[in-house]
Amino acid sequence: MRSISIFGATGSIGESTYDLILRAGGAEAFRTVALTGGRNVARLAEMARTLRADVAVCADEQSLPALRDALAGSGVAVAAGDSAIAEAADRPADWVMSAIVGAAGLVPGLRALRHGRTLALANKESLVTAGPLLMAEAARYGARILPVDSEHSAIFQAMAGEDIAAVERIILTASGGALRDWPMEKLARATVAEALAHPNWAMGQRITIDSASMFNKALEVIETREYFDVRPDQIEVIIHPESLIHSMVGFRDGAIMAHMGAPDMRHSIGYALNWPQRQDLPVARLDLAKIASMTFRAPDLARYPALRLCRDVMQTRGLAGAAFNAAKERALDHFLAGAIGFMDMGHVVEDTLARLLSDMRLETDAMTLEDILGTDHLARRRADESVQALAKGKSGV
Ligand code: NAD
Ligand code: MG
Repeated sequence: MRSISIFGATGSIGESTYDLILRAGGAEAFRTVALTGGRNVARLAEMARTLRADVAVCADEQSLPALRDALAGSGVAVAAGDSAIAEAADRPADWVMSAIVGAAGLVPGLRALRHGRTLALANKESLVTAGPLLMAEAARYGARILPVDSEHSAIFQAMAGEDIAAVERIILTASGGALRDWPMEKLARATVAEALAHPNWAMGQRITIDSASMFNKALEVIETREYFDVRPDQIEVIIHPESLIHSMVGFRDGAIMAHMGAPDMRHSIGYALNWPQRQDLPVARLDLAKIASMTFRAPDLARYPALRLCRDVMQTRGLAGAAFNAAKERALDHFLAGAIGFMDMGHVVEDTLARLLSDMRLETDAMTLEDILGTDHLARRRADESVQALAKGKSGV
């Protein structure tokens, strides 16, 4: 029986993974090793009971007593805290879903790779912050990373059986997010609720806002560069509002392979779960006659500074990815808290990167986990300072 663990089980990707596992037979078909969550212990406990997990771990240490109560008598072990989550990644499992949101997903994913596991990677922040390290460790320990981000799953599928040397370009599609049709001058005043109204995909709160700002696509450009090892100038972004083509690969003979399907993450999660086979998946089938047409347009870089900044990050590489991601995470925290406006997120990230580039050497070939975590920490502090400076400027102090 195949054994699995899900990191970030209570989130949007985690719930979809759980759904697929249940449909495939649940505890009768898979042995569940570890399930982790943040603070929603009621849901975590319910999942752990249903799948008869060995252990359930919540990130929030205060929630441990509640988790223990909820799982009393179930035979499921409980633990809490970041180190307990990392330790859960040491438990043997054949297939590990990495679906924690943010840089917090890096350490458990890396630990799983160091045990040679197959890592289904939804946590794109891992590749953005530590791409070279992650890929090198996977190769060293004979582990496999299967992309779960829909674009990267699409590219992976389009490249199956192809020689990477035959790839000329990769075209990432972007829905454009909730605010794609707003006039530029209105964007600065966009609220959290408005940025959360995604037209096509139901996802976690953070990635939904990142879709509207295109920071999500910027992360995905870097993720593409790191995972597929192509040059930055080979990666293009196109807005495709219908989200039916999940991405495309262009080959040297001019052919383009496009991956199409309904916008449902259970496709790419299920593909990674069943790989290298394909199995039935409960996703809607496309009715092309009904769809009738698909549209594409080039993104406006003035509107999406993230798409410009990711190019600078790839140019510097090394620790620039960790700095970029951390600055973006903090800028998003401040936007969610109402401290800065929607367009300020781009300013904060740009300012943070500029400060860090003048303070330290971000470019390096040999980066350790400590370097990455240190850069992440520093970038968060610099981003907070940048937000304070912005607030002072606005209040005219
Ligand atoms: P989410 O916010 O819905 O869920 C995140 C999960 O991580 C939850 O279980 C939460 O409790 C847990 N978590 C949050 N902070 C944590 C911390 N500090 N330590 C440990 N656990 C923590 O997020 P999501 O939308 O499911 O996204 C998860 C990852 O997958 C992200 O990296 C995202 O970019 C990526 N992704 C998501 C989608 C999608 O459709 N939702 C698509 C592509 C990629
Ligand atoms: Mg994506």
